[in-house]
Amino acid sequence: RTVYVNGDYLPETEAKVSVFDRGFLMADGVYEVTSVLGGKLIDFQGHCVRLARSLSELDMTNPMTDAEWLAMHRELVAQNGIQDGMIYLQVTRGNPGDRDFAFPGPDVTPTVVAFTQAKPGLAENPQAAIGIRVISIPDIRWGRRDIKTVQLLYPSMGKMMAKKAGVDDAWFVEEGHVTEGTSNNAYIVKGNRIITRPLSSDILHGITRAAVLRFAAEAQMVVEERLFTVEEAKQADEAFISSASAFVMPVVELDGAQIGTGKPGKLVPRLREIYLEEMRKAAI
Ligand code: PLP
Repeated sequence: RTVYVNGDYLPETEAKVSVFDRGFLMADGVYEVTSVLGGKLIDFQGHCVRLARSLSELDMTNPMTDAEWLAMHRELVAQNGIQDGMIYLQVTRGNPGDRDFAFPGPDVTPTVVAFTQAKPGLAENPQAAIGIRVISIPDIRWGRRDIKTVQLLYPSMGKMMAKKAGVDDAWFVEEGHVTEGTSNNAYIVKGNRIITRPLSSDILHGITRAAVLRFAAEAQMVVEERLFTVEEAKQADEAFISSASAFVMPVVELDGAQIGTGKPGKLVPRLREIYLEEMRKAAI
């Protein structure tokens, strides 16, 4: 692969980042994952807006304009011949040349790294016809989950707990209510109503979430942004997750209890279709 590091496009074996980089030592950095379908970027503007916000919340300077981010992403897509897949982008606070808890001064510039992940047939994922199974686990992450930081240790542990339990993923639960999935937003469906947690610092403000809720309202589905419990989710007609790489994915089991018929229902597959169709049309 050709990867991007601080202005250069290099073979992945030649790309280097300092051992003193604060991303490496302190998880002091943020990231974005953008999907590519048919060689085009999905909802790229949304990712640029969230990236700018994550950086600003952490007092980091945004090293590039949106036009420059776009050009760099397109260059990576072209150089790696990506049709379907993802672009991972990471911006860390950079390399102060030593380890220190205090943020370095403005002379230290952010480190920017980006690479492609080819996923042929990403939108035709056969899992969507089956759905995924999840377990619930306590949400013990920090209090600023709205910032997309590279602190992904607990979400990784959650994924491993799911694997050990023989299922696909985990939903985090805090004070009796579902927050989100390890790397996705969580929803339940009752009749024509889509229920999902409102935006706050408790969850990541999913770019896919925003689009999905917009399309759902346009398709005359009712969107209810409120808290929900694991018990309520088990009694739901359908459930699903959303993320830039999974799009809209049915959830058919929670903590061993079947949701609805235990198979993807009617509303969620329809929402997935609408999402993919609309986003392909708007891809850049
Ligand atoms: N919530 C968490 C914790 C995530 O890590 C992600 C994506 O990685 C999401 C939600 C979904 O966000 P998006 O739709 O922007 O990919």
